[in-house]
Order: sequence, then C-alpha cells, then structure tokens
Amino acid sequence: MSDEDKYAARAQRMLTRWSGQRMPVQRRQTVEGEVLRQNPPALGELAADAQTYQEPGKTLPVLTQCDVLVVGAGPAGISAALAARRAGADTVLLERFGCFGGVITTVGMETLAWYRYEGTVEGEGIGIEMERIAAKMGGAIKWPYNDSQCLDADFFKVVADRLITEAGVRPILHCLAVDVIFEDDGKRLRGIVTESKSGRQVVLAKRIVDCTGDADIAHLAGASYRKTPKDKMLGMTTVFNAAGVDTARFVAYTESQPATYADWSRTWAQETTGKEDALRSPYLDKEFDTARELGVIPQNSTNLGGSWSALTPAGEATNLNLAHMYGFDATDVMDLTAAEMQGRQEALHALMALKKVVPGFEDAKLRNFGMTLGVRDSRKIIGRYNLCSEDVRNQAKFDDSVGIFPEFIDGYNILILPTTGRYFEVPYGCMVPLEVDNLLVAGRCVAGDMVSHAAMRNMMACTVTGQGAGVAAAVSVQTGQSTAEVDMAAVQAELERQGVRLH
Ligand SMILES: Cc1cc2nc3c(=O)[nH]c(=O)nc-3n(C[C@H](O)[C@H](O)[C@H](O)COP(=O)(O)OP(=O)(O)OC[C@H]3O[C@@H](n4cnc5c(N)ncnc54)[C@H](O)[C@@H]3O)c2cc1C
Repeated sequence: MSDEDKYAARAQRMLTRWSGQRMPVQRRQTVEGEVLRQNPPALGELAADAQTYQEPGKTLPVLTQCDVLVVGAGPAGISAALAARRAGADTVLLERFGCFGGVITTVGMETLAWYRYEGTVEGEGIGIEMERIAAKMGGAIKWPYNDSQCLDADFFKVVADRLITEAGVRPILHCLAVDVIFEDDGKRLRGIVTESKSGRQVVLAKRIVDCTGDADIAHLAGASYRKTPKDKMLGMTTVFNAAGVDTARFVAYTESQPATYADWSRTWAQETTGKEDALRSPYLDKEFDTARELGVIPQNSTNLGGSWSALTPAGEATNLNLAHMYGFDATDVMDLTAAEMQGRQEALHALMALKKVVPGFEDAKLRNFGMTLGVRDSRKIIGRYNLCSEDVRNQAKFDDSVGIFPEFIDGYNILILPTTGRYFEVPYGCMVPLEVDNLLVAGRCVAGDMVSHAAMRNMMACTVTGQGAGVAAAVSVQTGQSTAEVDMAAVQAELERQGVRLH
C-alpha cells in the first residue's frame, strides 16, 4: 500500500468513527503457536493458625530408571558415578546446579591435594585421575609450595563433563532431590522425588548413593545422623577471585614475608605434630589487622584471613579463601540466606584490605564470587561403623577397607600434614546408614566424629568414599544382595581392578 493510500484509508476510518458508524476491527495476532496450560493443582489445606499447609496428593511422572543413582556431583559424586559405571552399572548422576564438581566448581576451591608434601602416601583412584586429567587438559596450575595442582575451577566443569560423558554415565543437571521412595518394606530405597523446571518427577533406582554433602537423602529417608553444635561447626566461606593483580610483585611480597603453618595459629591455639610448623603456607592474615588499624575495613570485620592459591599469567589470583562466617547451619534456609549475603560483604572487605595493604593487589578488582557459599560442616550419618579420632590419627586398618587416605587432618583447630608416609584405611561401614538399605552415603557426610570429619571432608578422601560406594552399589546390583549385605570380597576385587589401593 502506498503512503497516499494509507493516508486515504486512515482518513476514511476517522470519518466513519466521527459519524458513529462501527467498523470491524482487525486485531493483530498477539500469541503465536500453541497456548499451553497445565491443570491447576488440587486444593490443599492451610491450617487455621497458618503455620502449616497440608499438600494435596499428586501423581508424578517417572523421569528415568537406572541401576545406580548418584545424587550430588561433587568430588564424591563424580567418583561414585564413574566407579559404578566402570563396574558395569547403568548409572545416573543427578545434580542441583548446572555443572558437576561440587565445591570445586560451585564454590571455587581448587586445591584438591595441597596436603601432598614430600613423603605423602596416597591411594591411587579416581581422585588422582581427576587431578591428572585436569592438568593434561591444561586446566590446572602448580600449587605454590609443593607438587600438587590447583584445578582451574571453571575449566573443571569441562573436565567433569568429559569424564562423565566418556564413561557413559547419564547426567541430569538443574535437578534437586527433595524426597525418597521406599520399597513396600519401608526399609529399602526404591527412588527419589526431584524438583526442577520440569516440575516434580521421580527417578527410580536399584541403589542410591547420597553424595549431597549434607546427607540430604539419608535425612529424607529417616536415617539417623549427627550435627556438630552450631557454635562449634566449621565456618562457611565465600571464596572469590581477583583480576588485575601484579602477580610478580605479590610473589616478591610473600617471599619477603614467608608464611608457614605456624602462622595459622597466630590468633588461636592449633594442634600440629610440630613437623608442620616450619612448612611454607600460602597464608595471609596479619594484613587484615593492618587494614583494620588503617580503618580500611570495619573493626568488626574480624573473620578475614586464610589461603591464596593459583596466580595466573592473566593477572588473576583465584581461590581466595579469606572471608569466613561462623554460627550458621547449612541445613537452615534462612541461615544460608544470611550467610550468603554476609559472605559477599566480607569478601569485598577482604579485597579492599588486599588492595590497600598487599603489594601487587593495588589495582586488583573483583573477578567473581564462587557460584555459591562454601559449606564445610553439616549432617554426618550414624553408620554401621563410625570413624573416630583414634582411627585417622593412628593408621587404622579395616577388613572392609575401600581405600586409603593419608594422615591429613584439617579442621577444629587441628592441622596434621601427611609428610611421614602415614595413612589410614577407610572402612565401607562408615558409608552404610543403620536404618535404610540400598542407600550408601559418601563424601563429607560419612559417619564419624569431629576429628575424623576433619580428615574425611577433604576432597581426595571424598573421592575414596565416592569410588568405594559407587563400586559397592554396582556390585550389589549384580549379585542381587542389598548394600547392607554386599559381598565385600567382590567389592574389593572390583576396586583393585579399578586401580584403588586398599591397604
Ligand atoms: C571454603 C572451603 C574450602 C575448602 N578447602 C579445601 C581444600 O583446600 N582441600 C580439600 O581437600 N578440601 C577442602 N574443602 C572441603 C571439601 O571441598 C569438601 O568437603 C568436599 O568438596 C566435599 O565433597 P562432597 O562430594 O562430599 O560434597 P560437595 O563438594 O559439597 O558436593 C555435593 C554436591 O551435591 C549437590 N547437592 C546437594 N544437595 C543436593 C540435592 N538435594 N539434590 C541434588 N544435588 C544436591 C551440590 O550442589 C554439590 O554439587 C573446603 C571446603 C570449603 C567449603
């Protein structure tokens, strides 16, 4: 239509409207494609005091079924899934975030094996393999003070994708486990309920390995667990990364003021065996006192201090493990909310202090916070065997060993590094909950006391329990035994076939 014709048509429309005549209006199509709508939910019941709500029953679709379902994809979950798959099980790895790696990728903790000083003896297994492959793919940088690697947290997402895909593990990301399904006996698990953008769904599995860090599945299933009292819990941390760092100047500064592990206990009492005290440590904390004295950061910003790790040729200082929070419970959503927000503020205080006080950081800027707050401590199951301080300090041996872990204890004011070649065996029993069958629990929530947790929470130890649980789950499917009664000789034979050192 020419402009002249358009003008004439518009004028005609105006004349018609003024004369009061009604014309059919041609409306533009505003919705394209099919209009979708799901049935509105059935009515539930809100209690009179509005303190509880009775959910209506609902029929859920089954998303998938498998032999072994691993819930949570941190160091333990990745290891469990790979091990179960390598042992021949059809395996699903389900994770609430959009990447695998757990604390490595979502919090940004890159130091998988920093304890590895000369003399360390450790078990060969999937943990070591992950470190080796990340380095081979160019996703790691040497840790400053020994031959271990700092994994590049973001790049590790790709390393994990590759490991999972090549092994033939079936991945499900962006999916939170929220409930469990039992067999008719009310003791053996049959599956879980999930929530995601696809709604509430079900994943059925012959065996389940809980690698959620918080023992979510064991908790939902009614297994007993313990939690360290809130005032004694290990702190939470907001890890952050900085860009624009003059790394050469910073290294020169650390060489001029060499920190050791003795500096860790500058403001608190720390137990070591003595051999740790003179070892170099990538540690900063008195710098924050100076910043407070200078008025650069608030006087009450007192929980700053800790480790730095990788320095990249691009001028980045990553994995800055400096801003800590205490007195929060990671299984309480309001505590998580408060700690997450406080953590960002404290991390910014840490960065302000570094910029003002530490040579090399003058022009630094925040590159990013970890995707989420870092949690060290929450539920630990009560297991068939509960590890204890004595076990991890005194080279415990177990008939049902699923691997070894060097004598490395870090937490609750104890620091013991495995420089003497001492190690302990990790028992299958610490992954077996008492009340629920066909469920194993691996990673930082295995059964034990506070001191054993300070050993078993370390990422490499989580890969030991992960691999052990994955293999046991797969073997128990194959032999038709439950996880509680699985043939340990068969489990250990498969672990050895996978290259794990058991004793
Ligand atoms: C700040 C910080 C610093 C640390 N420094 C070190 C260090 O230098 N070296 C070291 O060895 N260890 C370190 N640790 C300890 C170590 O990182 C953790 O203990 C370890 O990662 C635990 O491994 P995991 O596999 O058990 O759990 P996580 O790594 O926590 O992984 C659990 C996974 O499960 C997922 N998940 C949780 N709940 C659900 C659910 N309901 N449904 C679906 N998915 C779920 C999570 O998203 C996560 O990906 C540190 C920890 C923190 C927080």
